[in-house]
Amino acid sequence: MINIHDIRSQFPILEQKIDGNSLIYFDNGATTQKPKTVIDAIINYYTTQNSNVHRGVHHLSQVATDYFEQSRSEVKSFINSGKECEIIFTKGTTDSINLVANGYSSILNDGDEIIISELEHHSNIVPWQMCCKKSGAKLKIINISETGELDMGQFKGALSKKTKLVAISHVSNTLGTINPISEIINEAKKFGAKVLVDGAQAASHIPIDVQELDVDFYCFSGHKIYGPTGVGVLYGKEEALNFLPPYQGGGEMIKEVYLQTSSYADIPHKFEAGTPNIAGVVAVKNAIEFIKNIGLQNIHDYESELLEYATDKMRSINGVKFYGTAKHKTGIISFNIKNIHPYDIGVIIDKMGVAIRTGNHCTQPIMDKYKIPGTARISFGVYNTKEEIDRCVESINKSIKMLS
Ligand code: PMP
Repeated sequence: MINIHDIRSQFPILEQKIDGNSLIYFDNGATTQKPKTVIDAIINYYTTQNSNVHRGVHHLSQVATDYFEQSRSEVKSFINSGKECEIIFTKGTTDSINLVANGYSSILNDGDEIIISELEHHSNIVPWQMCCKKSGAKLKIINISETGELDMGQFKGALSKKTKLVAISHVSNTLGTINPISEIINEAKKFGAKVLVDGAQAASHIPIDVQELDVDFYCFSGHKIYGPTGVGVLYGKEEALNFLPPYQGGGEMIKEVYLQTSSYADIPHKFEAGTPNIAGVVAVKNAIEFIKNIGLQNIHDYESELLEYATDKMRSINGVKFYGTAKHKTGIISFNIKNIHPYDIGVIIDKMGVAIRTGNHCTQPIMDKYKIPGTARISFGVYNTKEEIDRCVESINKSIKMLS
């Protein structure tokens, strides 16, 4: 059960008024707001703990290192990884995917294949295009149906001994579709292909167990799980990470450096060159604690209730068309209103205090599939309410009147 009053009271930003209206924040797919514990952790870090990690012998450096490593341990238990060395801190999901794609560009050869899908975020498309360009591997694309679900028949048919990697999102940021990643991983394994899951839109909405999934790589961003920007996670199975070459060279990722050659540190440090976003990493622990205190299953159930309520309410809007009507979805609603550009709706309802996203949501191939320039997107977080949905629908109706 969700105590919505208690949850909302933890988010200072939700007390804001926009043009005299209380803020309704429905852009959680872009980034979530931060609870006070996360904000305080960052302030506290710079006030009492600031130092560089893994280096100094002095007190502050040890304190900072302890907090940094405690966060790694928290992430490990959050996704049920078996080992701390399997958790790499990055700048975000984009950085995590690039780390793996960059490694694969020197592992793959002509004739090898990578499979992605039509509903990927640009972050899970462009790095693989670059990887294929460098390695000579071929990029294969799985299409989606009108409802926004992957064509699993096509996927199974595309797999072969040539498939070296499948990179797929857990949840579509535009359509909300929850992809059948467990089935995808099992099918890919039959051909010895590795699987990378882009979990940017899943990690704060559905429980994740990387061991049960038996996934090779799983990526997500701190800022979409109620944590800070500029920090992300790459989970990789120990053997999959050991197989990858380092991403960036520099301090901290080495064992020994000579003028002509160097040897590299063991994972996770092999992939953590340079001074990381220490305050951000430290505060990720508080973000995970916030989620754990509510319970991911409770969050999922509550957001599903919001999704159902909003979808029902929105059906009454004149000329509405939904994009992404998959059976299994998270709290994301992409829509357009007949003869109105989504941008116009977004700008007008913003004046009424309602923050939504409009555009292609970094998924241009999805827009091309539906032959539209963009959509308006509502995406829920755990602090949203049915009253906010009522006000949003009212605002959309008002904007339609103004624009017709
Ligand atoms: N993948 C998906 C599905 C996303 O929604 C996003 C962010 N919108 C990303 C990747 C990229 O995340 P980031 O910008 O935090 O690196």
